[in-house]
Amino acid sequence: MSVKAEITSCVEQPRIACAIGGIYTALAIDRVLPILHAGPGCQGQAGATLAGANGGQNADTYLESVIPSTNFSESDVVFGAAERLSHVVEESLKYYDADMFIVSDGCVSQIVGDDIEEVVRTFEGREKPVLHASLPGFKGNNLFGHSEILKAIVEQYLTKSDHVNEKQVNVWGIVPFYDTFWVATLEKLEALLTELGFEPNIIYGHGKGLKAVDKIPSAGFNLLISPWVDLDIVKLLEEKFDTPYFHYPNIPIGPTQTADFVRKLVKYANLDEVGAERIIKREEDRYYYYLNHSIKFIFTCRVTPREFYINSSASQALALTKYLINDLGMTPRKIFISEGVPEELQEEVRSYFNDVQHERPEDLEVIFTNDGGLCDTYVKSEDTTFRKTAVFGTTWDELTAKNLKLPFVPVSAPAGDLMVGVKTYFAWEGAINLAADLYNDAANKGLGTVS
Ligand code: SF4
Repeated sequence: MSVKAEITSCVEQPRIACAIGGIYTALAIDRVLPILHAGPGCQGQAGATLAGANGGQNADTYLESVIPSTNFSESDVVFGAAERLSHVVEESLKYYDADMFIVSDGCVSQIVGDDIEEVVRTFEGREKPVLHASLPGFKGNNLFGHSEILKAIVEQYLTKSDHVNEKQVNVWGIVPFYDTFWVATLEKLEALLTELGFEPNIIYGHGKGLKAVDKIPSAGFNLLISPWVDLDIVKLLEEKFDTPYFHYPNIPIGPTQTADFVRKLVKYANLDEVGAERIIKREEDRYYYYLNHSIKFIFTCRVTPREFYINSSASQALALTKYLINDLGMTPRKIFISEGVPEELQEEVRSYFNDVQHERPEDLEVIFTNDGGLCDTYVKSEDTTFRKTAVFGTTWDELTAKNLKLPFVPVSAPAGDLMVGVKTYFAWEGAINLAADLYNDAANKGLGTVS
């Protein structure tokens, strides 16, 4: 059967969760508690892709098992359960120590017509804010859900600030729990921005919470660091609070992208360009020291990976493509983006891939698909006799790479049953981690040994 015939036959291997996965964005903000008006299995479905199977993560202020829920059941489908939701919210306010509550519904409660907005309105003026966000799976995936949670916070909670802190920059574009490396990436990004002279404001992760959320309207500008996710949020913030935004299309990996990111950002914000160059020089020296330190290991691989497939989120695919081509000198085979990028944004996302040191960047095969299994179909159809191809993807792709003995690096959800710890591929140090993961797996797959 030809590849073309196979690829039209089915859609398999999901890399995204349904919209209810948006609750993980709420859970990433310290002491913000979602309240579910959904079936008892809905959270579990989202968690299977975004949490445990994506770097061994779980929510920490509130473990998933303690999230209050109406556990919508059969009788609720007949009679509705708005009254019970009201009771669950009331009891949650009484017994949970949280700073904000976000009531979120799933498919069934939406279909039967329970109005969570109306229920939430009865809690206006309470000591703790109670918001609502509709996250039914039939409306979109977890990125849609992520956006709905942020919109709920911006539209229902935030108000305009009477002062602007020119140095403060809010960070957007990294989706907690969906981006496998979000925690450490945000930590490192925060450190870099601080060193450059900014006052970064990041709402996700340890010790942030509502005090970071409250500062959003007073930022000098918003930093969007993704090809398309959160573009709607920075535009909304511009509309509501007149806050401009600076858009860099991906999380930079490696010396070429990170220097480019730093230079553009510092220029945009009118900060110390000389100081920025000093940081770039220091970090580049360190990056090349570490790579040279292992150059024998890298090049004594009998067949060092030269080509690559990527099957991941748009953000990771773009960052990896640039790093692998510009800094490691590898050649792209095909790049699959399997996260449901809206059709109207696909052309723009594709255009960011032209920013590579490649003779004909317009020839790069970037494929937008909802079929996560499509990449594997192509990889399996390849002649891998010389095993020069590496695969960057999810735990689904790992199985294919393992069977074909191809070097593999997990980079996107679901990244598998592993503990991600403080790992990130962000910037200079992150690229050293990435190179190590790639060449280690190449060596482990028997591609070469150190002499
Ligand atoms: S698709 Fe609907 S019913 Fe299924 S898990 Fe998502 S919200 Fe729940």
